[in-house]
Amino acid sequence: MSSPTRAPTPAMRQYLEAKRQHPDAIVFFRMGDFYEMFYEDALVAARALDLTLTSRSKDASGSGIPMCGVPHHAAAGYLTRLVEQGFRVAVCEQIDTRKAKGIVRREVVRVVSPGTFTDASYLDEREPSFLMGLVVLAGRERTGGEPDPSRYGMALLDLSTGEFMTTEYTGAVGRQALADDVATLRPREVLLASVEELRSVLADSPATAVTNVEPWLFDVDRAREALTRQLGTEGLDGFGLRDRPAAVAAAGGLLRHLRETQKMQLPHVRNVQFRQTSDAMIIDPPTMKHLEVIVSNDGSRAGSLLAEIDGTVTTMGSRLLRDWLLRPLVRLERVHNRLDAVEEFAFRSIERGKLREVLKSVQDLKRLVARTATGSAGPRDLLALLRSLAAIPRIRLILDTLEAPLTGSLTAELDDLPAIREEIEATLVNEPSAQVRDGGVIRDGVDPELDELRAISRGGKEQIAAMEAAERERTGIKSLKIRFNRVFGYFIEVSRTNLHAVPDDYHRKQTIAGGERFVTQALKEYEEKVLGADERIIERELALFEALRATVAAETLRIQTSGHALAQLDVLAGLAETAAVYDYTKPHVHDGDELVITEGRHPVVERHAGHNFVPNDVTLDAATQQVILLTGPNMGGKSTYLRQCALIVLLAQVGSFVPASRAKIPLTDRIFARVGASDNIAQGQSTFMVEMQETANILRNATSRSLVLLDEIGRGTATYDGLSIAWAVAEHLATDPAVRPKTIFATHYHELTDVADALEGVVNYQVVAREWEDQIHFLRKVEPGRSDRSYGVQVARLAGLPEETVARANQILAGLERDELSRGGRPTLTTATNDPPPQLGLFAAAPTVETVVAATLREIDVNRLTPIDALTLLAELKRTLERG
Ligand code: ADP
Repeated sequence: MSSPTRAPTPAMRQYLEAKRQHPDAIVFFRMGDFYEMFYEDALVAARALDLTLTSRSKDASGSGIPMCGVPHHAAAGYLTRLVEQGFRVAVCEQIDTRKAKGIVRREVVRVVSPGTFTDASYLDEREPSFLMGLVVLAGRERTGGEPDPSRYGMALLDLSTGEFMTTEYTGAVGRQALADDVATLRPREVLLASVEELRSVLADSPATAVTNVEPWLFDVDRAREALTRQLGTEGLDGFGLRDRPAAVAAAGGLLRHLRETQKMQLPHVRNVQFRQTSDAMIIDPPTMKHLEVIVSNDGSRAGSLLAEIDGTVTTMGSRLLRDWLLRPLVRLERVHNRLDAVEEFAFRSIERGKLREVLKSVQDLKRLVARTATGSAGPRDLLALLRSLAAIPRIRLILDTLEAPLTGSLTAELDDLPAIREEIEATLVNEPSAQVRDGGVIRDGVDPELDELRAISRGGKEQIAAMEAAERERTGIKSLKIRFNRVFGYFIEVSRTNLHAVPDDYHRKQTIAGGERFVTQALKEYEEKVLGADERIIERELALFEALRATVAAETLRIQTSGHALAQLDVLAGLAETAAVYDYTKPHVHDGDELVITEGRHPVVERHAGHNFVPNDVTLDAATQQVILLTGPNMGGKSTYLRQCALIVLLAQVGSFVPASRAKIPLTDRIFARVGASDNIAQGQSTFMVEMQETANILRNATSRSLVLLDEIGRGTATYDGLSIAWAVAEHLATDPAVRPKTIFATHYHELTDVADALEGVVNYQVVAREWEDQIHFLRKVEPGRSDRSYGVQVARLAGLPEETVARANQILAGLERDELSRGGRPTLTTATNDPPPQLGLFAAAPTVETVVAATLREIDVNRLTPIDALTLLAELKRTLERG
């Protein structure tokens, strides 16, 4: 922005100063009832907010200054829209409007940005709003050896609740883990000192708003100081932060940014949680996406695992469940604790029902107490807090009859703060206005001064009448009147004929046509009281309300603890509800090797398929069945089967029951799920390249405790390439002694089934399909065995490819099936469409009725046919013969 050279107005000078201090933000400059924006800010905001551009007096160059504005009472909505578009806004307010002489003083009082804005219109109730701080500490050089690896620190702060976490990563592997976490956690804003190493971490999260800050903010010593000051402790060892310089730097740097440069007070940030990557099951971003854990394929919550299993009734619970799904547990004891609690809730349906009913009256305690502590809570917020706390004694009564240890320890953390509740209840009226400024918020009888002011305000008329009567009595002037006007205030009016009776203590104020107007000392005092009363009522109510809010804020930590315990109880009871409604069972999670799922279902697909969903089994173990090669036609149900196995393992380690009739789940450290390139919508880069990078990543990172699910890997390239790659990958997973993760490898390359013959621990399974009169019927059943063809042509017919094309494809296929390996993949029939194929395959152009019937008979497995199916089949066969 070019600043004008000729003297700008004093207000403009203030604006330019605010802009100089916040060059990267749009300045909302308060002028009376509006926030105005000037110069580039005005141009940008007018476009972003659809505002009309006007122009203000000329600047030095003689041209008008572009300007636009929004009314101050509607500012929140405009701020939301700007912040949602990734802008930062510095709000410059008028300070001390009443006292200032001449020009009003103005100051930037807050800077809102995507990660710091906490207005309810901007937040999503069921999602956290994370501000993230990133830092890298270069490893120390060592004489005569490799330098120490770099350490990366990542801190996360949700300003809407005060929840605060920090993590540390080491070396190249750590940097990848950090990049994955950024992509999974989706912070609203990332704060970093601009260094190449950190920018590359954000490469996978291109949509994230980034704020560059000065590197000194993350200085380790200063950061440690900021942290200990915030948490009110001597050291940080108690938080697990000993020898964690990067985690300390990230967390402290974040605090310093907010306090020092954003002038933001953080009274609700009372704790910091140190999280380690190894504390949770690792589910990288492609796996999260493929399994549709938090969002479904279209990017929305609907249709995701989270949406389907979310049985919580509070927003706190819903956010916590999301967090649990992002970080399944890896410690057996913790998994069992959650599972036992869910089990008890699942069986004790009466208690569960009661608990959930009472929980419905619990509002977002975490966000309410955060608003209380930061001074933005209004009277209705405090009442919501009161009503939420008031639910606790009832909840405790319900939970007292339960026995699960986790439920017990959560109950012990509930604190209904009776003193605080009494105080709120005694102070606030039942239905206060939204803003204290609107008055009528504090009860009568709370404060003598307020009562008196109200009495004056309310009783004004009566008091005047009483005074009037008294003066008439005293003076004997029957027509004496006390009246009021805006210019003179209150006065006593006496008609000319009665002037002789006016006492000495009346002071004449004005002469009018019919008489004179007087005031008395008592009337003047009364006037002062009455006229100031309404204004002072508001001031008094504000002061009393703020005192009440401060009293509540002093209990922030206790309220946060209760809120967190309630959220956990809500999640546990919600998981039990889901388990009961959808017939889930308790998984047996163990630290052995065997993974056995009996009659497993896909938790999302089964909701849509209803009774038509076909449950399937899976067994995986290191010795006999480490890799399953799953073959079968497209649309057969392979992908669903893979994903349901992964989701069942994930749910089990979250502590949830699972959609299966039995499940034995070994403690799993990572889940990898990948889908072949052609299933990915092209993203502008070579999808095959991405597919191979991701596969490489699995081969590098999987352990024997991992679960690997590969869906059509290798499909993104030519057949032989793809087949070879798929083969090599399967072989690697089965034989590398250091790795050998439990693997299900779905492929339509039926040739791959030969791998099973060659390798120990590799077995063939297939999704069963039946052909019927050249049509394919999917049974969705997974069974041991291999499919002998890909059925691509049948699926193509199903998809509506023209009959001639399907017939021709069958011809080519027949040729290929005889020739392809020896002829290097060149279909012999591609050049000679008219030659009749030497041998008609099952799916060749014109099979006779007899061949169809014979083929069908050959295909069926009599031992697996139910009597009803047999009868139906018989009838079909007869009809086919008759028609033919
Ligand atoms: P593939 O990966 O073999 O191409 P999918 O897993 O995508 O097949 O499944 C294709 C369709 O079949 C899905 O839309 C799904 O609704 C349905 N489906 C899959 N498995 C089952 C099942 N076990 N029971 C019922 N329907 C299923």
